[in-house]
Amino acid sequence: MEDPDFKCRSDIEFWTLGRPLTIRLILFFGAPFGHIYCQETFVGGQILEIIPRNEEQIKNLVELEPKEHLQLNFWKSPTIPGETAHVRVPFVSIQAVKVFLESQGIVYFIMMESVQVLLDKKNEEMLLYQRREWNGSFNFEAYRILEEISQEMNNLVAEHPGLGRKVNIGYPFENRLMNVLKFSTGGDKLAIWLGAGIHAWEWVTQLSSPWTASKIASDYGNDPSITLILDIMDVFLLPVTNPDGYVLSQTKTHMYRKTRSKLSGSLCVGVDPKWNWDTGFGGPGANNNSCSNSYHRPSANSEVEVKSLEDFTKSHGEVKAIITLHSYSQLFLFPWVYACAESHNFDELEIKNEVAQENAQSLSSLHGTTYKMGPVCLLMYQGSGGSIDWFNDSGIKYSFVFALRDTGLYGFLLLANQTLPTAKGTWLGLKTIKHIQDHPY
Ligand SMILES: [Zn+2]
Repeated sequence: MEDPDFKCRSDIEFWTLGRPLTIRLILFFGAPFGHIYCQETFVGGQILEIIPRNEEQIKNLVELEPKEHLQLNFWKSPTIPGETAHVRVPFVSIQAVKVFLESQGIVYFIMMESVQVLLDKKNEEMLLYQRREWNGSFNFEAYRILEEISQEMNNLVAEHPGLGRKVNIGYPFENRLMNVLKFSTGGDKLAIWLGAGIHAWEWVTQLSSPWTASKIASDYGNDPSITLILDIMDVFLLPVTNPDGYVLSQTKTHMYRKTRSKLSGSLCVGVDPKWNWDTGFGGPGANNNSCSNSYHRPSANSEVEVKSLEDFTKSHGEVKAIITLHSYSQLFLFPWVYACAESHNFDELEIKNEVAQENAQSLSSLHGTTYKMGPVCLLMYQGSGGSIDWFNDSGIKYSFVFALRDTGLYGFLLLANQTLPTAKGTWLGLKTIKHIQDHPY
């Protein structure tokens, strides 16, 4: 029996956002290890920037998302009056959406004239770098497939046998590995966790990670701040938290964010691993639409990607800081997301502000890219079952999220030439972890 979550054409299986859409295909030759992939295309599709001016306009916009015939894909949800929202609109509904916005007096701009032109550029870029690398070493300025990231981790471990090793912490739905790099100078130590790629389409995070890993390894013994950190703490780095989603986003449709678990009774696949944590699960802001990109169910910890991280954190017992990389928005975020009132310990909030300020300044200092900082709920939106709150609730005082470049010009289609500057800027931010080291608890 055909899997109801897939639609097939020309005997080639493909998938699109869990919805039974009719889409065009292109053949994407050459990529990973000589396979031929079919990718979803978005010819005629645009990204609109929308600026709701009041709560009623926000409500009207939110009600658009579940309307299946429109096939909308919110990159940045409408949450606060005056703040921009970004939505990908396919060609088939672009006129209808624009007419609706104009009828409601909602201000909008075309942020990306042609989604497909940018996608084609990214694909060409990937192929170009892959061809180049047949002759040489790993290039951190190119987007990488999962196997390449994994190979680079193996190389790193082989080159630094006394410092790095690979640890598997889980097998997501399609049985790929959640491989973590552990940097340790030996003994049982306090730990810092760096996680990337929980959302499949945020490629800048998965690509920043091998560069960061390589930097940690090469700077130990050479850079005093990294040396000091590793002398007293272990650093765990998980480059691709959601490997199933990442593979799909690279091979079939870039516009994929969630896990790949099957959902009984739904034609759609996957859960948003950002909202599947066991803190305030299912409360305000939770999304019950199984086809939505931010769907949180069926229950807390249902996703291996989430459960594995929770289990690791609990069993380790000495994780003192968690930094999760996302994109895009250029934000430095800390708890809470489930509560907007500043009802928690004020001193703690002050400390978070202090660390955040140092990091936001560092992130900005290298290329002048500015980062805003603050609690998620106040800066962005209210949400339930968020990882940032779960870590904080578990006693990890330093629970932060970096939302990397950009602010929407390219969004999830950020070109690879932006990734190395992003990784370098993030690195400066990570080094301010020194604050954490100086303020143990
Ligand atoms: Zn994300």
